[in-house]
Amino acid sequence: TSIVELVAVSKHYPGGPTALDNVSVAFAAGTFAAVMGPSGSGKSTLLHCAAALDRPDSGQVLLAGQDLAGLREPRLTEARRRRVGFVFQQYNLMDSLSVWHNVLLPQRLAGARPDKGWAREVLRRVGLAGREDERPARLSGGQRQRVALARALAGRPEVIFADEPTGALDLASGREVLALLREAVDDLGTTVVMVTHDPAAAGWADRAVFLADGRIVAELAAPTAELVA
Ligand code: ADP
Ligand code: ADP
Repeated sequence: TSIVELVAVSKHYPGGPTALDNVSVAFAAGTFAAVMGPSGSGKSTLLHCAAALDRPDSGQVLLAGQDLAGLREPRLTEARRRRVGFVFQQYNLMDSLSVWHNVLLPQRLAGARPDKGWAREVLRRVGLAGREDERPARLSGGQRQRVALARALAGRPEVIFADEPTGALDLASGREVLALLREAVDDLGTTVVMVTHDPAAAGWADRAVFLADGRIVAELAAPTAELVA
């Protein structure tokens, strides 16, 4: 069954080209998908619409079967908080907060009581047990992205949306992050939808979807870096 589904979604930015042109795509629960395509092809727009960060002009977005078009704030934010985690290219951590408080922040902002036992467990999973009191500024890029992944996992999301999660990392650090995303899928049953330019990153996914000019132009099951490149 699909956890995220776009049905005939179109989005046009004023003064720009059509960012998404009648896109229909479904992401199956517990799978890892890569969304690929050239710059400007609509990848970020697709991710933002799927994650309820932006609204399409037309079409439907279903998140865990719930039609987001029917939701207004604050219920839209609530749906996002309960179901979705985010990982961004530039980590988006708060430098004034420790690793520990970064990981708990989304739950705190949502007014939820953080599950601290689980937060400790996710920090252990990403290899950062013992680093809880450090500030992100003291960590390497790869470590920062692993904090961001721990933060995403701390809310027990059904789906993680990752936007170029390895885009700022060296090869080895990028691989660690991809292996951890893969583990989230395999061990925790999380669904991952990842936008990437990187054929090697797509090799970790179960499926690759290719966009061009706001349309899905190709799909590949079991992508490998060689096939994608
Ligand atoms: P990608 O992530 O594949 O680079 P985007 O989804 O960011 O593609 O962009 C798709 C198209 O929409 C591009 O032509 C881009 O210039 C345009 N676009 C994206 N965001 C905006 C915006 N906020 N305002 C105007 N045009 C935008
Ligand atoms: P508050 O939210 O009131 O500031 P904290 O989160 O600082 O509370 O601490 C409450 C509990 O959270 C602690 O008893 C401990 O179990 C856990 N905790 C706090 N800081 C850390 C940390 N750096 N590493 C692991 N667990 C921590």
